[in-house]
Parts: sequence; C-alpha cells; structure tokens
Amino acid sequence: MTVKNKKVLAYKCKKCGNLQLATTIFCNKCSSQDLETVEVEGKGKIITYTIQNIAPEEYEKFKPYAWVVVKLDIGFNISGFLPGINSPKNLPINARVKIVDYDERGIILSLD
Ligand SMILES: [Zn+2]
Repeated sequence: MTVKNKKVLAYKCKKCGNLQLATTIFCNKCSSQDLETVEVEGKGKIITYTIQNIAPEEYEKFKPYAWVVVKLDIGFNISGFLPGINSPKNLPINARVKIVDYDERGIILSLD
C-alpha cells in the first residue's frame, strides 16, 4: 500500500484493465502478471469504522481518532486513520473521506 501525492498507488492489469491495490503480484480478475503501477484518486466513502477510545501508547497523542474502512471510488477498500472523531455522531456511515497523508500511523484520512 503506497500513497504518493495524496493518491493511492494501484496496479492496473495491462491485459484486462482491472485495478487493485499494489500489494499483490497477480491480477485478481484475470490472473495476468502483466501489471503496471498507476495513481488513483484517494477518495471514497466510509463503510465501517471503530472509534479508538483506548489507544496503544504510541497513539495516545493522536486521540481521539477512528480507524475506518473506506471504499474508494475506484472500487477497492482501504483502511486508515481519521483524526478528531470521538463519537459516532460525528461520523455517519457513507461519509465522504479523502486520503491526505501517509505516515507511521498508516493512511491518514480527512472528511471530504
Ligand atoms: Zn487482468
């Protein structure tokens, strides 16, 4: 999983055009190994999340935050870190988010 310039690096199958995360070496649709790296828009909607009230020590300073699973508009899911969320009232399912950074926490998201 790589994030560059607020975009997600993905593999695009040269044979069938299928897009997937740049973590596998086969096209998950047609099994071709002929993949190229492409940048895709890091925007999508939240499909589920967990609000972290109890954080590991190294994450204490980032509280409160939610760990969210996002379905990117391009079609696959990622999970990432959404700061500033302390209650489900602040974060409806299907809320729009975008990738803003990538650091030691993982993918950093913000509400879009
Ligand atoms: Zn393919």
